[in-house]
Amino acid sequence: MAGTIQLLPDRTANQIAAGEVVQRPASVVKELLENAIDAKATIIKLYVKNGGCTLIQVDDNGIGMNVFDARMCWERHATSKITKADDLYNLNTLGFRGEALASIASVSEVEMKTKCVHEDTGTRVIINAGKFINQENTAATQGTSIAVKNLFYNIPARKNFLKSISVETKHTFEEFQRIALAYPAITFEYYNQGKNLLKLESGDLKKRVNDLFNLKEGELIETNEDTDIVGINGFIGNPKIAKRTRGNQYLFANGRFIKDPYLNHAIVSGYGNLLEEKKYPFYILFLNVDPSKIDVNIHPTKHEVKFEDGRHVYTLLQSVIKKTLGAHFVIPTDTQMLNALDVNPNQNVNDRFAFINPDVNQNFNPFGHKKPKTPTSWEKLDEILNTPINPPKQQSFFAQPEKTTDIVNQHFEIFQIQDTYLVTKIEGELNLIHQHRAHRQILYERYTSNQPVSSQQLLFPRTLELSKSDFALYLEMEKDINALGFDISEFGQSTIIINGLPSELSKEDGASVIIQIIDDFKTNFQDLKIAKKDALRQAAAKNAAIKTGKTLNQTEMQVLVNDLLHCKQKTIDQSGKTIAVILTKQSLERFFH
Ligand code: ADP
Ligand code: MG
Repeated sequence: MAGTIQLLPDRTANQIAAGEVVQRPASVVKELLENAIDAKATIIKLYVKNGGCTLIQVDDNGIGMNVFDARMCWERHATSKITKADDLYNLNTLGFRGEALASIASVSEVEMKTKCVHEDTGTRVIINAGKFINQENTAATQGTSIAVKNLFYNIPARKNFLKSISVETKHTFEEFQRIALAYPAITFEYYNQGKNLLKLESGDLKKRVNDLFNLKEGELIETNEDTDIVGINGFIGNPKIAKRTRGNQYLFANGRFIKDPYLNHAIVSGYGNLLEEKKYPFYILFLNVDPSKIDVNIHPTKHEVKFEDGRHVYTLLQSVIKKTLGAHFVIPTDTQMLNALDVNPNQNVNDRFAFINPDVNQNFNPFGHKKPKTPTSWEKLDEILNTPINPPKQQSFFAQPEKTTDIVNQHFEIFQIQDTYLVTKIEGELNLIHQHRAHRQILYERYTSNQPVSSQQLLFPRTLELSKSDFALYLEMEKDINALGFDISEFGQSTIIINGLPSELSKEDGASVIIQIIDDFKTNFQDLKIAKKDALRQAAAKNAAIKTGKTLNQTEMQVLVNDLLHCKQKTIDQSGKTIAVILTKQSLERFFH
């Protein structure tokens, strides 16, 4: 009997990858511009028609490709940028996955002209919906021009998903702007519907920022700090020009635009009381870290990165903002954090951090205005500090292992693979379980069933300052958050105090988890339109669940599998993601036929 499992044809695999890399026309803009930069272009032109739905074209004067590479670059995993996995830890290019062009070509009609410096003639390649159509010699100047036409024409479902032309145009322009900001030494031109809307001459960052934003004297403050862990430079906006929308916030890590709510929080909290209610500050900040200390490979669009020293980057970033603002507005009264930035090269990094609290110290206020504290919150703090704290239980990610014992509590032989998947035999069937998704489901169902949740008081309660709008959101959700095992209360203006966390989280950094929960809640509620309570439960379950990459011991695995067996949904979660795969006798037999 023939098996039912087959390898996907390349074109199908590319289309699936395109789902991640190419979300909308702006994603194509990003990939093409980044390729032009990697090709060392000094002049890059972008042409967009109908929001990029009909045409996105990027012309560059970079190194170009020879006849072979011009054909090869459309294959999946074709890259000239890395040759071995180790190169990933020392990246000096924007691209490296070798999947952008293959993905783009699989969902559009592509025409490329390219010529490299060593060849006399250029070459022209045409590919439609991932199918190679033609390659021929052509006259061309040095560099590459790639035109992507009729995006998603062969995938109507994706095409229908696109927003209006004006929305897509806005996204393409934003992507262009981010890249133009990161590379001021390159000349960029932007054409919309055939008209040249913008020409950005090469220059330094200040000139680029001025050309793009046209700000007045004094509206931006320059900042430039170098520490052993991270270099931080760029511009931050005078609090007066903070806007009611999140728009002008640009954070880059090693030249890549990143979205990082945690670091955004560091910046906003650095502004402290200088920001008016519901206002978002303007910033364009570049973080530079040793490439081996940052992982850019965690997301296909590379908008998310992971810093090895995330907490220190948070603290330093917050201090730089305070210091920069302090120098311009009010003289800081507390020099401790500022000293932290004065790097003595002979001093070892750990010594330097001995006097910085790596946790988020939101109470530090360089501007000398004491935050008003309500008596009730002080009383509360007093009460907590004077309450004997229960000795911490043996720490486990799982709230109440004993709870499951009265139900089934079967014993399974379980192996953990790649610190992510659990493999076990249940009733003669082979089960593959994704540890994070399983735990997420368990917690989500626990939260929805309103079972009592266990929480752990913190020895040192932490305070956390929120933006005015997040604080308003928090107040609205306070009761529901605490019902999930948190013990959080209001602590003066825009500040909350975290007294306790759900047991499964008590070893974690409460502050960053809460920021993340609020952020995920906003996405669930506002973007995905999930009902409020459920949006919060899902956000909390996601952030409280054990992560992938975490080594689990036998007991933890036992509890996890047992708890999953008691879930209503064991194999697929509410959003359709696979939690567990069960291989029955029949499906195993198919492998060996
Ligand atoms: P990646 O950028 O991750 O390597 P891509 O699919 O974006 O993967 O591109 C594949 C390869 O095609 C690149 O590694 C590069 O060698 C080549 N390439 C793409 N765009 C250009 C360009 N504008 N100029 C020169 N070479 C390019
Ligand atoms: Mg690329």
